[in-house]
Amino acid sequence: MEESELRRLWEITVEQLEAEGILKNPLIKEAFLKLPRYLFVERRYWSYAHLDEPLPIPAGQTISAPHMVAIMLELAELKPGMDVLEVGTGSGWNAALMAELVKGEVYTVERIPELVEFARRNLERAGYSDRVHVIPGDGTKGFPPKAPYDRIIVTAGAPEIPKPLIEQLKPGGKLIIPVGSYHLWQDLLEVIKRPDGSIKIKNHGGVAFVPLIGEYGWKE
Ligand code: SAM
Repeated sequence: MEESELRRLWEITVEQLEAEGILKNPLIKEAFLKLPRYLFVERRYWSYAHLDEPLPIPAGQTISAPHMVAIMLELAELKPGMDVLEVGTGSGWNAALMAELVKGEVYTVERIPELVEFARRNLERAGYSDRVHVIPGDGTKGFPPKAPYDRIIVTAGAPEIPKPLIEQLKPGGKLIIPVGSYHLWQDLLEVIKRPDGSIKIKNHGGVAFVPLIGEYGWKE
């Protein structure tokens, strides 16, 4: 399939997400249009990249469905200049979208070395390698060198909210994280750290993510 056709199919997907009321913020729509998902999957999956479902990436992991990424970005309410962290780089797609929305740098942690390389290649090709920093390691511990953060987005399912991620949020900051069972069922939580340091949790319902594996996540 020609790249022009892949882009056309992607535009239809984005229009559809908007029509369904999932994509609301025009800036997120703009970022989606700028960063078609096919740029972040292996070539053999290009013609599936517009479909609103997860797709395989190397090491048995997945790139999330477009609607899921849109929902998390809408909840995150990213603004230019914010300090942000992603846990679970995968393909690098969500991190690149975050970079578009904060108009600056993004730190993203990935535990599987093969995916660190995969994401770096994708980000290089898409022109984001100078702004998206892929950090190898266990993201359940956050990334202390650049903390505290205005926003943290976790794109894998945790058994509970990792303590270091709360600690690394600024007062008034927000963490978006799926929390629940090991296999494919979690609640999408919006965890807000109030200015006094206390925590408020809003539950946005059922989602399905691969497990968050690490010291403050599931054990291998
Ligand atoms: N955000 C990704 C994207 O845009 O392609 C999709 C992420 S995929 C659903 C979840 C990722 O989380 C996998 O790449 C997995 O290896 C990673 N992961 C799981 N546990 C992790 C941990 N403790 N630290 C960092 N990454 C982790």
